[in-house]
Amino acid sequence: MAELLEALKEFAEERKWHLKYAKFNWRIHQSLFAHCLNVSSLSYSLLDYLGEIQHIEVTDKLRIQVFLTGFLHDAGKESESFQGAVEDFLIGKGSEPLDFSHQQVGDLRSAIESLQRIVEKRFPILKNFQGIWNEIIWSISQMGRREDAGAISHSFKRVASNDALICKEIVHLADMMMSKVTVEDSASTPIDGQIVSAIRFTYSKVSMVRGVLTQFLHAALEEQFQSNGFKPIQWFPNGTIYVGKADATVPLIGEAKLIESIVKKMHDMLDKSRPSQLAKAAFGDLTAQVIAAPEFLFASNETIQKFWQYIAWQRFSNPIIKTIDDLKEKENKLFQLLSKQLKGKDESTRLTLFARFSADFNLLIILFAIRKQLIEKVDDAKIERKKIEKEATNKIQENLATILKVHAASIASWPEIALQTKIEKRLAVAMTLWQSPYYENVEIWRKKLLEALEKATVELAGMWRKFVPDKYVTIAHLLVSDVTNPLDPKAILNEVKNLNQVISKGKSGHGTQTCQRCGGVATFEAQAELFGNSEIYSDNLIAGQRVGGGNKIQVCELCEFEEKLRSIFMKKGQAIFFIYPQLALSRIQQFDWQLYLNRIKYNPGEFPPLLRIHKWAERVIERKMTCFLPSIKENLGFSFSQKEFVNAIQYVADINNLGKDLSSMIEPPLDAEDGKTIATLLSQGKCKLKKGYERDIFAVLNQFESIYLSPNFIILLTSGTVANKEEPESSAAIKWTFFRCILARLFSAAIIAVDTSIAEEQVALGYTVVPSNVVLKTLAERLNARKGWITISELERAMIKLSAIILASQELSSEKADYGNSTLLRLLDEEPGRVLIRMISNTRRQVFPKKLITYLDIWNK
Ligand SMILES: [Zn+2]
Repeated sequence: MAELLEALKEFAEERKWHLKYAKFNWRIHQSLFAHCLNVSSLSYSLLDYLGEIQHIEVTDKLRIQVFLTGFLHDAGKESESFQGAVEDFLIGKGSEPLDFSHQQVGDLRSAIESLQRIVEKRFPILKNFQGIWNEIIWSISQMGRREDAGAISHSFKRVASNDALICKEIVHLADMMMSKVTVEDSASTPIDGQIVSAIRFTYSKVSMVRGVLTQFLHAALEEQFQSNGFKPIQWFPNGTIYVGKADATVPLIGEAKLIESIVKKMHDMLDKSRPSQLAKAAFGDLTAQVIAAPEFLFASNETIQKFWQYIAWQRFSNPIIKTIDDLKEKENKLFQLLSKQLKGKDESTRLTLFARFSADFNLLIILFAIRKQLIEKVDDAKIERKKIEKEATNKIQENLATILKVHAASIASWPEIALQTKIEKRLAVAMTLWQSPYYENVEIWRKKLLEALEKATVELAGMWRKFVPDKYVTIAHLLVSDVTNPLDPKAILNEVKNLNQVISKGKSGHGTQTCQRCGGVATFEAQAELFGNSEIYSDNLIAGQRVGGGNKIQVCELCEFEEKLRSIFMKKGQAIFFIYPQLALSRIQQFDWQLYLNRIKYNPGEFPPLLRIHKWAERVIERKMTCFLPSIKENLGFSFSQKEFVNAIQYVADINNLGKDLSSMIEPPLDAEDGKTIATLLSQGKCKLKKGYERDIFAVLNQFESIYLSPNFIILLTSGTVANKEEPESSAAIKWTFFRCILARLFSAAIIAVDTSIAEEQVALGYTVVPSNVVLKTLAERLNARKGWITISELERAMIKLSAIILASQELSSEKADYGNSTLLRLLDEEPGRVLIRMISNTRRQVFPKKLITYLDIWNK
């Protein structure tokens, strides 16, 4: 099937189906390509199900036939007259074209013959299926008949084959379902026909799309339906359609079962996530919230071990020896205090001891931050907070004293010292550490200290599991109230009660705060920084303020947890996008998406990393950009520089704690002490990277991550950025728009920047949005944006224009004739003549800026 899909894509690409409309209304536009692919895929799933319940016998020919019939059912819409009528209608000039293919058999034949050539070249076996193409034409024209009986039917005098009848019924049903805007509409598509009457549909739906959490919810709902004999076949971002036997009763999904399933799914995912990822996500920031997600840290003893390894590798936990002049005021104060205790030692020894202590103290701060989380989160109905506080301190004290061989008594007051800013108090801690017999030897000391920290944390984890309510259960309870169908009436009543309680609680205090993400009841005040993305404009903050600094945002518990979940996948992500289907998704497009995501994530240099948009702009300008990912055959060469490669190897070695022996990364395991050596050995062809490491290294280089725990939509995260240092946000927004276009083109989907209000019903009037920023008014005009969207028919032109302006700015920069950080912004409105004069007068070399002229020309046309 994958190969057949490739053939269909090639066909659609040739005929530019991605720039043509199939469906359009006030909320959703869908390209002919996306629509036809989805109808063929859904038809295939329906046929499959009918075979599964033994209602019909499904042959190989029938499978291929239904797939091709589905793909071609709207081929008539590719005609210029139809597309012209759509454009007229969309700009308000014409009346709405009939939403059916005025299928002229003549039109249809040309498309079908062209597809036949492409498909038969790849699958000679198709030639054995006598008459399949005529049967396809018959099925399609019969579907057209429903609106326009006279136009076509006379051209067929033969009685159709059984296969053609089956295809007609199934594709017709799939077409109607794939044209519906909402989940409930699709589920209530009337089923008539002898063959399809054996089935029925039902659906699940949620009130808002949050992200990872919603994927858990969708997945849990799917599981419940499946265990009741229903099969998922069509996915909307906010719901799923299931098919069952016509006489099956729609299951009533109980709240308890659903919660159980969500919790299990969360545990499954977290157990599968590598402990090192959880450990990283658990850690916040030494200067702000030190432990961002204690529930991840305490997930397992292995996570705890990885956590301390990760921390030990951080810069702040390693001694940085400075000169006295380099010490900051506070540092100097502590240094003076320590020096008084170190009489007789020379200055450099004292500085070294000071640096070592500072690093050790940072580690202790983290341990006590863990303790603080435990105390704060404890269920005080179960145990008194004071008791926990004492017990936790004792545990820490015992472990540190035993392992480091220091006096226990002096450790008792450390938690307070760690939390205080008073620098003098730290002296007592230093004095205690110095008592240890291990302190003399730096390496042994380091090992012992980390061992003590890890053991103490393991003990705290034991207490956490005993006294802190399971976070996943709490979240699952909250999450279930997002479900709008199926609903157990009792569950709704409970939910209303809960909500009232929260609201009245809020009212007694400072009034109810609403979550700035979803509009729910806010219970957390989160550092806006935790909410990532610094460059993509964020609607979370008033007046589009830049995220960061001291900004706080009010969020609900679900939205806060959503952020934590994302951080497991990508620490400090720069940008987050949703890939939404234009309308709904089918099984085959879903597989196709996942295949692409993996290729992009682990791209071994076959094509430029997605974030390197200049390279993609060049492809677009050269008219080489298609919906296919370029393959190595095109000889693009290795897309990463040697330096990037070396750094990535080193990074992967570091997070795996390989130290100075990297031989385990390669086969044969030759001696290698750092990334550079490995890269050299590789380039000499002396060894190969082991598969797992190779994947990790390419993942680091591509800076790309995707999440799809359920098929309904995909979450994309990038850890890097397309912006230059200090580039203004609106300038970066131009580049991100282009980036989203690349994704839209590759996936034939709507690409949504995540943080534009999640509660809103989905709207996708094309491929992606153009930023609404006033500074970028010209951008929207030049890209012919309608209602803020890059429309279906304009995608290619928009991408060419964006490429031109991006490359023009690059040309200027490379000749040092740019306008600094805001070059892109200037180019939006600047007279091309003035740009040229600037270029010519700035460059020493007497070269005619031919490329620049071409780019400016394209932009200003
Ligand atoms: Zn919220």
